[in-house]
Amino acid sequence: MTALTAVTVRVPAKVNVQLAVGGRRPDGFHDLANVFLAVGLYDRVTASPAEELRITAAGRDVASVPLDASNLAARAAALLAGRYGFEPKVRLHIEKDIPVAGGMAGGSADAAAALVACDELWGTGASRAELLGMCAELGSDVPFPLVGGAALGVGRGELLTPLEVGGAFHWVFVAALGGLSTPEVYRACDRLRRESGDGDTVAEVAAPAAAPALLAALAGGDAYALAGALANDLQDAALSLRPELAETLRAGVAAGALAGIVSGSGPTCAFLAPDGDTAAKIAATLGPSARVAASPAEGATIVP
Ligand code: ATP
Repeated sequence: MTALTAVTVRVPAKVNVQLAVGGRRPDGFHDLANVFLAVGLYDRVTASPAEELRITAAGRDVASVPLDASNLAARAAALLAGRYGFEPKVRLHIEKDIPVAGGMAGGSADAAAALVACDELWGTGASRAELLGMCAELGSDVPFPLVGGAALGVGRGELLTPLEVGGAFHWVFVAALGGLSTPEVYRACDRLRRESGDGDTVAEVAAPAAAPALLAALAGGDAYALAGALANDLQDAALSLRPELAETLRAGVAAGALAGIVSGSGPTCAFLAPDGDTAAKIAATLGPSARVAASPAEGATIVP
């Protein structure tokens, strides 16, 4: 054990610039090709010694953050402590700025941040590979916020390959009132595929793959090319559950965005702007629920 009294870790949100969803597997999951880009909207998780595991939260959407053992940050602390054979006697304070249930992996980000913070507080000295392994156990979106930048995730999204990003991209994010349940969005995706007559199983849906044009746009730092390549196979499903998002997407493009896309399983909409000034203008047009953020952003980092 070290003599540290508190460790704060800053962790970014993500946008999926491509989310390719394969057919429903016999176990109910879907293979994915997921191009993650970390964006500069951050939660902060502070770990400090306590008699028992306790979660507190402040900031945006805080009423929707569970404060019990179901909080992903709590599960992360319990997993790390269990791995090293002691009780997770820690208070985790979460300062939320990432929209909750918005398709920006805020809960997953908090879990990655909690692992890094507890590892430092407890002096457990887990290797990067061990931390990434625990992230993957906690959920398929948890490894990415640990590494940040940009990465291709395959499998259920958790097997990561870092990707080159050749410049800054400027985004506007519009959070919608009320979240969308990720499993419900996948069920809607399967339903729409069955209704289209093409089928929804692995035998019927093309294997998901990252688009070469999208990877080239990222590597070249080319916002115009990236705008043309943005793709989300869950978008129609999210729109079927929340039809009003179509109007949000139209409004963002009318305000000057190069393109708009539902972020992950939604309902947050992400708009790619040609530059930072235009992003600020788009956000001002779209109103108080709009936030600007630049990418790429670095992964979970201990705040000095
Ligand atoms: P993803 O993009 O990975 O599908 P999301 O961004 O849509 O996720 P989250 O913000 O991660 O969704 O929250 C989804 C649900 O997880 C919330 O409704 C909440 O009940 C639960 N949850 C558990 N831990 C957290 C946390 N630390 N912060 C926010 N929500 C959490």
